[in-house]
Amino acid sequence: MTVPALQEIRDKIAHAASIARRKPDAISLVAISKTHPAERIRPLLDAGHRLFGENRVQEAQDKWPALRDQFPDVKLQLVGQLQSNKADDAVALFDAIHSLDRSSLVRALAKAMDKADRRVPCFVQVNIGGEEQKGGCAIADTPALLAEARAADIEVAGLMCVPPLDVEPAPYFALLAKIARDNDVTGLSMGMSGDFETAIMLGATHVRVGSALFGHRG
Ligand SMILES: *Cc1c(COP(=O)(O)O)cnc(C)c1O
Repeated sequence: MTVPALQEIRDKIAHAASIARRKPDAISLVAISKTHPAERIRPLLDAGHRLFGENRVQEAQDKWPALRDQFPDVKLQLVGQLQSNKADDAVALFDAIHSLDRSSLVRALAKAMDKADRRVPCFVQVNIGGEEQKGGCAIADTPALLAEARAADIEVAGLMCVPPLDVEPAPYFALLAKIARDNDVTGLSMGMSGDFETAIMLGATHVRVGSALFGHRG
């Protein structure tokens, strides 16, 4: 079974990768299924896609256990802000967390992982545009937060960002890539429906695509 939108995104990823002289399989497509019910997700599963992202713990807990019974090899990643009191639930449910952005959360996640005896790789989210209202750690605080995560035996999968809305995202992607290089971090979670090809050109290893796959959220 094929899903036209999925095939189209895969083709665009492959095309951007080839222009950037990168291997397409070096880029993971995280299908962001937030707000979409199981019947919208199932066609992608039937088409063989296995990597999904959600932005709320509660919503993921409601939707994914039943889907996982049918598709046990699904990988589920958290891309939204995480409250420390949800750390246990997040560690139980997700295979990676893209929103590690503060010391208190490093401590809560390390404790939850120790308790569950399960290590979940994390991306450190950087507030790349220095926006007051946005999640993410300040650029200046990123090296220290990376060190804290590593000291707590949390595997740092990479850096993640959401650039400011309505401005050219490329400079922000390039800046995130530079911060990653400067700190010996390899993964880069950047790029969404409107800008994933640009992000791939600038080194993204994980693109988080929602509306281009599922249509607009209701
Ligand atoms: C919703 C969301 C996405 C996907 O956004 P689209 O523009 O729908 O592709 C990516 N990353 C995060 C953190 C999100 O919350």
